[in-house]
Amino acid sequence: MRRPHHGHRQNATAYIAINTGLCEACWKCVSVCPKGVLGKVNFIFHKHVRIVNPKNCAGCLACEKACRAGAIISLKGSKLAPYYIF
Ligand code: SF4
Ligand code: SF4
Repeated sequence: MRRPHHGHRQNATAYIAINTGLCEACWKCVSVCPKGVLGKVNFIFHKHVRIVNPKNCAGCLACEKACRAGAIISLKGSKLAPYYIF
């Protein structure tokens, strides 16, 4: 199965997706991720989490549990997982 033409998954791994519009840049998810999957976009007026090592994601969902803003969504069991782009 082919990915969408612009399906460069900057906001998702195989297990989680990030809705950067909800991200409050608290960096809790960055701290709890044991695999170094998550990083920061950290400009003065533009801050949100980003995925830097998607292939390292183990699907532990520590990031999802840590996020109070609901900006991290579990894709486990989702057929959309390979195509999830915000
Ligand atoms: S699911 Fe686990 S390994 Fe994947 S980004 Fe979240 S905390 Fe990191
Ligand atoms: S825990 Fe949620 S609100 Fe905090 S940086 Fe991560 S995605 Fe953004």
